[in-house]
Amino acid sequence: MQSNYGEPSITLTSGKGIFVTDENGKKYLDFLGGIATNALGHSHPAIVKAVSKQIATLGHVSNLYAHPAGLQLAQKLIEITGDPTSRVFFCNSGAEANEAALKLSRKTGKSRIVATIDSFHGRTMGAISLTGQPSKRNPFKPLIKNIKHVTFGDITQMRKAVNSKTAMVIVEPIMGEAGVIVPPFGYLKQLREMCNQHGVLLVFDCVQTGMGRTGTWFGYEDEKIRPDVITLAKGIGGGLPLGAMITLGSTTPRFSPGEHGTTFGGNPVAAAAGLAAINVVEKNRLMTSARIFEKKLKIKLEVVRGVKEVRGRGLLIGIGLDGNYAQALAGLLADCGILVNAPNANTIRIAPPLNVTKVQIDKFVTVFRLCMQEVDRG
Ligand SMILES: *Cc1c(COP(=O)(O)O)cnc(C)c1O
Repeated sequence: MQSNYGEPSITLTSGKGIFVTDENGKKYLDFLGGIATNALGHSHPAIVKAVSKQIATLGHVSNLYAHPAGLQLAQKLIEITGDPTSRVFFCNSGAEANEAALKLSRKTGKSRIVATIDSFHGRTMGAISLTGQPSKRNPFKPLIKNIKHVTFGDITQMRKAVNSKTAMVIVEPIMGEAGVIVPPFGYLKQLREMCNQHGVLLVFDCVQTGMGRTGTWFGYEDEKIRPDVITLAKGIGGGLPLGAMITLGSTTPRFSPGEHGTTFGGNPVAAAAGLAAINVVEKNRLMTSARIFEKKLKIKLEVVRGVKEVRGRGLLIGIGLDGNYAQALAGLLADCGILVNAPNANTIRIAPPLNVTKVQIDKFVTVFRLCMQEVDRG
C-alpha cells in the first residue's frame, strides 16, 4: 500500500464486540471503534444477520433501480430527523456526503461558503477545501475558491463573514478531528438564526457526531434547532461503508434527476447494515447509556493527574493532557491492550462502541490511570 497512513504498528485479524485481536493473538479493548464508526462493535449478531441475509438476497443493483433496504433506511432516517419533508441522498463516505452538500449549495445560485478553522470535512478536493486545517490543505492548492474559515464557536466572527451573498455555512456540531472541541452552548442556535436572517443554507457535518454517538441521533439536537442539511457517514453503516446527505425542509434545494450520483451509494448490503444498526441503538436505548457513561468518564478522568480537561458529549470524548505526549500515551495504552488515538499532540480521543459495558468503561479508566503514571509527561 502507499504510505499515506504511515506504517501501522498493529495488524488486526478478528473482532468480537468491543474486542479485537491482532496477528500475534494479542487482544485489545477497541475504544476507538474504527474512529466512531463501529457503533455496535465488531461482528454484532444483528449486523451479521442483516448483511448475510441481504447479500444472499440482493447484493448490488446500482441506482437505476430501487430496493427495499435503501427505501427502508431512507424512511428511518427521515423519521429520526423529525422532519417528514427531509430527503436522503446516499453515498459511501463522509467526504462524499460533504461533496454532495457543496454541490447542492450551488443550486442557491450563490457560491460563497463559510466554514471553521481546524474543522475536518474529508479529503476529496471539495471536502479538503471546506476543511480548516492548513497541513491537510496546503499541499494541494489551488483549492475551491470563495471558502472562508473563521474561528469555531465564535459567533461574532461568523456574523462578520456571512451575508446574503453566502451560499452555505458548514460546521461540525462538535469538531472531532480537531480534538473533540465543543462550542459554547447556544452557538448552533445562533448560527441557525443568522442563516435564516440572510437566507443561507446551514449544513451540519454530523459524520462523527451522528447516529446516537453524542446521546442524541445527531450532534446538534441539544440546541433544539435543525439545520437545512445533515451530512452523515462513519457510524451510519454499522461498520460498512455508507454515507448520506439529508436535506430538511421543503424549500431546501434538492438534486433533480441527473444532477448527482454515485454507483455504490446506498448499496443494499450497506443499507441493510445501517438499518440494523439504527434499530439496535433504538431498541437497546444506547443513546441514554452514552450520556450516563459520559458523566462517569468525565468524573473519573478529570481527577487523573496530568489530565487538563475532559471534553465531548456521549461517547465521543477528548481527554486534554497537560503536555504534548498524547502519541506516546496512545502507544502505551495499546501496549496495555487498549486502542485509542491522538487526534493532536495533547488530546486522546475515545469513541467506543455504543454498547460498551460498565465493566469495560471501568477497565479503561483503570488502565488509563496506570498509563498516565508511566508515560513521560515531559
Ligand atoms: C471522518 C470525517 C469526515 C470524512 O469522512 P470519510 O468517510 O473519511 O470521507 C468528514 N467529516 C467529519 C466530521 C469526519 O469526522
